[in-house]
Amino acid sequence: MNLSSLSFFRSLRKDNKQFAVIGLGRFGRAVCSTLHKLGYEVLGTDIDEKQVAQVLTEQIVSHALQLDSTEPAALKEAGIFEFDTVIVAIGNYLQESIITTLNVKEAGVPHVVAKASSEIHGKVLKRVGADHVVYPENEAGCTLARSLTKPAILDRFELDPENSIVELIVPDQFDGKTIADLKLRSRYGLNLLAVSYNDKFEINPDPNQRLQKGSAIVVIGSNKDINRLPI
Ligand code: ATP
Repeated sequence: MNLSSLSFFRSLRKDNKQFAVIGLGRFGRAVCSTLHKLGYEVLGTDIDEKQVAQVLTEQIVSHALQLDSTEPAALKEAGIFEFDTVIVAIGNYLQESIITTLNVKEAGVPHVVAKASSEIHGKVLKRVGADHVVYPENEAGCTLARSLTKPAILDRFELDPENSIVELIVPDQFDGKTIADLKLRSRYGLNLLAVSYNDKFEINPDPNQRLQKGSAIVVIGSNKDINRLPI
C-alpha cells in the first residue's frame, strides 16, 4: 500500500455496509467471503451460472445474480449502480474487465476497485475511471520474496517507493537494551513508533524500556536505513 491508496481508502464511507463484487473467480470469492465474515452485505455477480451457484452453496454472499456486466442495462437492473463500492474482480478477461469498470464508473458509482492482471491492464483500468487498482498476483509474489529474504519483517506499509513503516521482530543484538541505548535515530536514521508484546502495541514507548527477544517493534524510515538494521 502507498499514500495514493491511502487517500482512496480514506475516501470510503465509514457507514457503508454493502458491497457488490463482479466476477466470482478465486479472487472475487475471497473478497466476498471475507466481507461476508466481517458482517457486510455482499452482492456477488458472474456471467457463469455455476460460479453464482457455488457462492450461494458456500454461503459467502448475501445475494448472488447471474449477469453479463458488459451490459449496462443488466447492471442497472441488478441495482449495482446504487452501491457505494463495487469490486470488479475480472482479472483474466481484459475486454470484459475494462468495459465493466467503464460501465460502473459512467453510471456514477463513487468507489470502484478493479483487479488487474498486468501493468498495462492496470493503466487502462485507471484511464476508464477505476479509483483503485489491485495486482494480487504481483503483490503476493513481492510479499513472499520479502518474507523469504527478511523473515524478521512481519509487516510493511510502503509510504512511497523509498520509505516504509515496518513491524519487525526485535533483533538479537537489541535484546535487553533500552530504546535510548539503541540510538535508532542517530545510528540508523529511524524513528521508533511502537513496541508490541503479545499482539498489543504500545505507542510512543518510554525510552528507558528494555526490549526483549520475541517482541516486535515498529519503525519508520527509508528502506535503505531499514535494511541496515541487524536483521
Ligand atoms: P482466478 O479465479 O484464476 O484466480 P480471477 O479471480 O481473476 O482468477 P477470472 O478468471 O478473471 O478470475 O474470472 C473472474 C470471473 O469473472 C469468472 O468467474 C468469469 O466467469 C467472470 N466473468 C467474465 N466475464 C464476465 C462478464 N462479462 N460478466 C460477469 N462476469 C464475468
